[in-house]
Amino acid sequence: MNITGTALRELHRIHKQLTDLRGRLERGPKQVAASEGAVRRLELDAEQAKETLKKARIASDDKQLQLKSREMKIDDLKAKLNIANSNKEFQTLKDQIAADLQANSVLEDEIFESLEKIDLLAETLTKADADLAGARAEASKVKTRIDGEQANLESELARVQGELKEAEANLPSDYKSDYDRVARVRGEEALAEVDGEVCGGCFQMLTPNMMNQLYLTKPVFCKSCGALLYLQEGRQVGD
Ligand SMILES: [Zn+2]
Repeated sequence: MNITGTALRELHRIHKQLTDLRGRLERGPKQVAASEGAVRRLELDAEQAKETLKKARIASDDKQLQLKSREMKIDDLKAKLNIANSNKEFQTLKDQIAADLQANSVLEDEIFESLEKIDLLAETLTKADADLAGARAEASKVKTRIDGEQANLESELARVQGELKEAEANLPSDYKSDYDRVARVRGEEALAEVDGEVCGGCFQMLTPNMMNQLYLTKPVFCKSCGALLYLQEGRQVGD
């Protein structure tokens, strides 16, 4: 039973195409998962930016309330100052007011700083929200593209699998089971083109006898890697 290099080359081409299609079918969902992962990370970032801003606002509001109540306390002290009964009491109140005014000035600085910080945090939140929106749009684009591609790849895969069945049906029956065994395990590496006198799969040198068999269109399996061998185009009579 003979088999030409042309037939085996075609069979190998089909196997390679199947490997490529399966690889693309596997990569698609991974790309979708990666873009969805990016969205989840940015969701957390945006959530955190929102929370940080909220806390900063509460802290700033607290300080402002504190300042108001201290200012009221100073007004109280000033009222008492006007009705002080003794010099000593007057002086004590004056000292108290001076100390409180000093403390309030520190607090006012802190409030000013907290308002500046709030502005920055608000900018951070705006940017985080924009990044998130961008990532969501991108993820949705990726999903739409991959969903479309997957459908095409599935039908292409089915078509090429049909081609494989046809090509395999043409293999001579006396070594089909050997081929089937290798093909099941190794996919496209079940076949290898002979490069010079070397197996293209494992680079093992072939014997003169194996080369003769190949020229005579006899089936030859590489003794080293088990691949079904075929000659390069044009090296076989009738190629
Ligand atoms: Zn080999």
